[in-house]
Amino acid sequence: MPKTRLVRLDRISTDPPAGTSRARIEKLTRALARELTELDDLLYAARQHGVLVVLQGRDAAGKDGTIRKLLDQCNAQGVRVESFKVPTEQERAHDFLWRVHPKVPAVGEIVLFNRSHYEDVLVTRVHDLFPRDVIDARYDAINHFEALLAANRTVVFKFFLHVSRKEQEKRLLEREEEPEKAWKLAVGDWQEREHWDDYTTAYEIAMARCASAELPWHVVPADRKWYRNYVVLKTVVEGLRPYTAGWLESLSALGKVRLAELREYRAAQRAKK
Ligand code: AMP
Ligand code: MG
Repeated sequence: MPKTRLVRLDRISTDPPAGTSRARIEKLTRALARELTELDDLLYAARQHGVLVVLQGRDAAGKDGTIRKLLDQCNAQGVRVESFKVPTEQERAHDFLWRVHPKVPAVGEIVLFNRSHYEDVLVTRVHDLFPRDVIDARYDAINHFEALLAANRTVVFKFFLHVSRKEQEKRLLEREEEPEKAWKLAVGDWQEREHWDDYTTAYEIAMARCASAELPWHVVPADRKWYRNYVVLKTVVEGLRPYTAGWLESLSALGKVRLAELREYRAAQRAKK
């Protein structure tokens, strides 16, 4: 376990930077959303890479809202959401990555993870669900797993939606007051809130041990939904942009092959007459 913590969540704001104009951010977000739609079209057609978006955060941090925002920009045929809940008996009878690996994206696909393999070093650590040495060994396993994905045409984004204690409380109370949000209520959310600091530590350790230049964690200020959506979209769009040239190239090569096939077919038809 490294002694120095690379991430100190209490030093990272959950709010947009002071003076940020909401109108300006929303305008930028609209442009990013349009660009993501174009990138997604290319990704889907070119089938050169898959995209994995890992969304982690406390209850009411905005994972569902972020997923909705991303889904809005994507072609339904090429996008999938995978949610990770308390493991089933069958899942618990395997190694912790067993249930995760089959859900990762194929080339051409975007997959959004609502929680992920990180729960196996977060909730498990906070509640001592496994011996500490078992949990400690998982960080390296996660790093190897993600490196395997990255080496095999998967672009991985890891987001921590960073909400404040106060904003979480506000959102949980809203769920009680608004009948249309009450379905989301869970006693567990309030129980987990009592372990706020333990989760902070667990996240800080996970983000310190499972981050590299290629596979960084993005801590997203998440108290304002409009800013959260902006940061997530910007990160994904900027992360995918460098791939466009390669995708266009492979599509143009594919187009040439298809045209040549069609020409050959036409020539053969003419020869028959
Ligand atoms: P929700 O995302 O609100 O539907 O809740 C899913 C619950 O499943 C959360 O309380 C997670 O902590 C829990 N969960 C997800 N993955 C695991 C895991 N690997 N081990 C234990 N609990 C988990
Ligand atoms: Mg929940």
